Amino acid sequence: MSVLHIKDLSVYYANTRALVGVNLDIEEGEYLGIIGPNGGGKSTLLKAILGLVSPTTGEIKIYGKSPGHTGTRLGYVPQLVSLDKSFPLTVEQVVLQGRLRPQLTLFHRYRAEDRERVKEVLKQVGIYKLRERMLSELSGGEFQKMLIARALAVNPKMLLLDEPTASVDAEARKQIYQLLQELNKTMTIILVTHDLMAVSSHVRTLACMNGRLVYHGGPQINEGVIGELYGCPIDLIAHGVPHRVLANVAEVKQDDARSI
Ligand code: ADP
Repeated sequence: MSVLHIKDLSVYYANTRALVGVNLDIEEGEYLGIIGPNGGGKSTLLKAILGLVSPTTGEIKIYGKSPGHTGTRLGYVPQLVSLDKSFPLTVEQVVLQGRLRPQLTLFHRYRAEDRERVKEVLKQVGIYKLRERMLSELSGGEFQKMLIARALAVNPKMLLLDEPTASVDAEARKQIYQLLQELNKTMTIILVTHDLMAVSSHVRTLACMNGRLVYHGGPQINEGVIGELYGCPIDLIAHGVPHRVLANVAEVKQDDARSI
């Protein structure tokens, strides 16, 4: 059974077409990577699933529910650029926000079980010792791990991540992929990325978006799909990494991985 069902989805922002005619079904336990050029509608797709933007046409069901009515089933890690790092909060305070329920006010007191869950997720993502650090004192990788912890705080069944390895160094990137692999044992993951390393060696399935869904299938895609997706040959996209990066994942060394 599909845990995510998308049928004939189109999204327009006023006159701007972000997505058109998207059909996509995701099974429980899938680890889906979404790639595509800037402006290809990747973030819009995540936002539509989350109920943050409304479909112009079409239907989305998540665990049989409409977007915005999924309770704690979805966890979301937004793009780093959309967040203010100078806000005077500690890591623990940010992750606790993940436990906030809509009906509660800003001045509500967290319960012991909220604090216990936060402790657990901070340990799970490997930043428990940073719990009292201010946001402004975090590296890119630590910040991303904190956002993943915040998304995990409600124990979601599905995790949506929007470029979690942008602005992250190589070591933290490796740790984040290891963490996602571990999380995928118990939850469905949808990962928007520009990172070939993720595409070639981590995700189980791949969706390619260019306003519409160009491809959905195994992570070993061919040059034809890439050409249709980006409108240019893969050599140009992968900055000199040859075609076999996507055609034969086994040959890809980590050092060869480049951003698309
Ligand atoms: P991606 O995540 O693949 O870069 P987006 O989903 O952000 O793509 O954007 C898809 C299209 O929708 C782009 O043309 C973008 O300019 C437009 N768009 C995205 N968000 C908005 C918005 N809030 N208002 C108007 N247009 C938007």
